[in-house]
Amino acid sequence: MEKTKVIIVGASHGGHESMRALLDNYANLDITLFEAGDFVSFMSCGMELFLENQVTNVNDVRNFSPEQFTTQGVNIMNNHEVTKINADNKTVTVKEVTTGATSEYAYDKLILSSGVTPNNLPIPGTDLANVYLMRGYDWAHKIKQQLDNPAIQNVTVIGAGYIGIEAAEASRKAGKNVTLLDVIDRPLGIYLDPDMTDIIEKELTNNGVQVVMKADVQAFEGSDKVTSVKTATASYPTDLVIQAAGVKPNTKWLDGIVELDSKGFIKNDEYLRTNLKDVYAIGDATLAYSIPAQQKMPIALATVVRREARYVVEHLFEKTPTVPFKGVVGSSALSVFDYHFAASGLNQTTAKRAGLNIKTSFYEDTLRPTYVPAGADNPKVYVQLAFNPQTHQILGGAVLSTYDITAQGNVLALAVSQKMTLEELADTDFFFQPGFDRQWSLLNLAAQNALGESKF
Ligand SMILES: Cc1cc2nc3c(=O)[nH]c(=O)nc-3n(C[C@H](O)[C@H](O)[C@H](O)COP(=O)(O)OP(=O)(O)OC[C@H]3O[C@@H](n4cnc5c(N)ncnc54)[C@H](O)[C@@H]3O)c2cc1C
Repeated sequence: MEKTKVIIVGASHGGHESMRALLDNYANLDITLFEAGDFVSFMSCGMELFLENQVTNVNDVRNFSPEQFTTQGVNIMNNHEVTKINADNKTVTVKEVTTGATSEYAYDKLILSSGVTPNNLPIPGTDLANVYLMRGYDWAHKIKQQLDNPAIQNVTVIGAGYIGIEAAEASRKAGKNVTLLDVIDRPLGIYLDPDMTDIIEKELTNNGVQVVMKADVQAFEGSDKVTSVKTATASYPTDLVIQAAGVKPNTKWLDGIVELDSKGFIKNDEYLRTNLKDVYAIGDATLAYSIPAQQKMPIALATVVRREARYVVEHLFEKTPTVPFKGVVGSSALSVFDYHFAASGLNQTTAKRAGLNIKTSFYEDTLRPTYVPAGADNPKVYVQLAFNPQTHQILGGAVLSTYDITAQGNVLALAVSQKMTLEELADTDFFFQPGFDRQWSLLNLAAQNALGESKF
């Protein structure tokens, strides 16, 4: 009997998770994964560690090596770009990148995880030498080479989201003079509320990063190589630009075939199906359903696409899936020099963008009882919470400290995904031991503070 054919487009987090789940859930499938790039499954999430010399080898910074799956019968075809879906006869047209030759491959089910490509700013000078982007294997190598190059002294990073912050920190640790520019008013302003971004901005400045917010970047200047970055009010001498300011979905090839939104993101339904029968779309090339916002939003995270892939595969052969995809919270974490934060769900900025009315609170304390001297063993800890002003449902939150309390961010993720209220979090039964925390645990105290209770 002929095997059921499943084709996957894209060998990153989404492609990896789809293959894993297909092999775990079903026997006897004919699985083929097409990847346009040469190197299979570089993990950009590990790029900062590579840039800071913290990995065994750059070729280890990947989700999987092809052999892990070819030995289980999966066909992994790198340097193969899928250029078209022929929905009527259920085939895809695929171009071999090295030769330009094209072939058609039949599918019974097709999973698209074609992701995004970082944007060049729409300004003059992006074609100058040493104007870089930050994603994927090739850029990782180029950036590393320049960070190791003593002739490169001044690095300007465009974009103060978490990717830009990673670029700024890695460049600073490589001994460069670093300027961080963004059009928004606070670094990490899309992830954290002002009380926390104030602390982070100070940390960046204390570590020698020149932080310039509300910067209107107008041009990269130079004759062949970039020599300066011009904003509306200043000019910054620059040997290397790293742009981390937005992305575009890899969906041009789907235009007119699969329904896309105005920005080119693939439209999928609550079962993650596209408008084409048996064609599913997941990951960064789509918008994600946010549990706290109860709507689709851009949440471009590896954690999101992995959950989507798992869901799609689990329900792949049901006529109509028994349950819709439940959605995601959107959780991320990052170290910024000596500080570590984890954030989950909504904050003031993302709630506003989603058109939601939320209330927020900010709580500051010490990690352990006050009889433990303040300092490294009893550092300051900070918690922000976002909640529905009427129902007190927790919609988001973040934790920040020089001590690694990021695991508490996962507790917040659970609270958001389970739609807990402030009242419930205020007396959830967490442990107490003065070696670790206060008589009430940090998140209990943060919720009590949000409810207006007296300071413990
Ligand atoms: C520097 C950096 C750090 C990050 N850190 C984190 C982190 O710590 N935690 C986290 O959760 N997320 C992190 N992310 C985000 C995470 O990497 C993405 O959310 C995730 O990679 C999305 O996976 P994806 O499968 O949707 O697409 P992508 O990773 O974008 O991969 C898409 C793949 O499809 C291929 N492709 C595209 N079109 C075609 C085609 N037509 N034919 C064949 N192949 C095609 C591309 O070559 C690519 O390999 C980071 C991202 C960056 C850039």
